[in-house]
Amino acid sequence: MSNPCDGKPGFSSRRENAPLYSDFGIVLRSYKLGEADKILRIMTRENGKVSAVGKGVRRTRSKFGARLEPFTCLKLLIHKGKTLDIINQAEIESSFHQLRENLDLFVCASAMAELVDCVLVERQKDGGLFDLLYKYQTIMERSPGKAALVQAGFEFTVMARAGYELNTGSCAACSGVEGKECTSFSIRLGGLICDKCRKEKSPLTGKLIKLSNECIALIILIADGGEKNWLEGEWNATAQREMRYLMDRVLEHWMERDFKSHRVLKSIPGS
Ligand SMILES: [Zn+2]
Repeated sequence: MSNPCDGKPGFSSRRENAPLYSDFGIVLRSYKLGEADKILRIMTRENGKVSAVGKGVRRTRSKFGARLEPFTCLKLLIHKGKTLDIINQAEIESSFHQLRENLDLFVCASAMAELVDCVLVERQKDGGLFDLLYKYQTIMERSPGKAALVQAGFEFTVMARAGYELNTGSCAACSGVEGKECTSFSIRLGGLICDKCRKEKSPLTGKLIKLSNECIALIILIADGGEKNWLEGEWNATAQREMRYLMDRVLEHWMERDFKSHRVLKSIPGS
């Protein structure tokens, strides 16, 4: 899928040598600040995750206040500050308005935005993650009935990019049984588990989550990538519910394992 946010957004009023930068950015979340301002957490394409103030944007006469909504992809001109940046200009590149108008889509898109917010620290650059978020927001808007699957596909991909790929090819405990023949999932091992290993109750696997055959088939397709394969399939409600439950547990475990240490490390001066 081509991304329209290639290159740099142009702004005619850009002043040379001023501490300004132009970039594409997707709004992850916003907080109220004072009477009329907002702090926006934005995933930009070239400058990483930034926090920027939108001054006066909660006033009805604000020039671009209505554009600074969650999930909106903007062409931005931003004044670089010591702690917080300040939004100077904002034009809509893609509004992604459908993601805000339907509660199911809003919940799923919010989870994707929250994950991006969580995996990056301030100013951390990751143009690939920007492109991935843009792509999955686009897929979600085009396939509104599959929003939960799209969210799961995004989560799988983000985890795999960070080096935490789920083991779906064969049993994560014995490797002797193909993934599609497995019956449950071990959060601790991050993979599918066969029935024999489940019955043997190996302490290695930890607590297991029992899954239906359809859910296992779905997980294998999502893990294999290629959105077309799982987007075109018809999946029963139980399989989708099981998958959502599983992904929530997997993410909890992953965040606990990788991000606590990551955050502690980042808080140590000089690290
Ligand atoms: Zn096994």
